[in-house]
Amino acid sequence: MTLVDERGPDGLTDAERHAAWRAEEAAYEARFALRKAADYHTRCRDCGVFVKKSRWVKKDSFDAINRQARPLCWPCWDEYDHEY
Ligand SMILES: [Zn+2]
Repeated sequence: MTLVDERGPDGLTDAERHAAWRAEEAAYEARFALRKAADYHTRCRDCGVFVKKSRWVKKDSFDAINRQARPLCWPCWDEYDHEY
């Protein structure tokens, strides 16, 4: 018996579930494929790393102009306490 073949309540193995997540993420990310870096803030405001297109913030958006909204990479986002 191996752990890999163990199925969860949803009838999927871990490997199958991870593959489904990756496919879902790729499909989600594909919706932002047309974004152009010139129009967006593309780097994490804290560490400066280049973030995924889905996290980009449009430069002329209300939040970017009035609230200095900037992208945040996942590790930095994770550092904060989120109350909103
Ligand atoms: Zn960061």
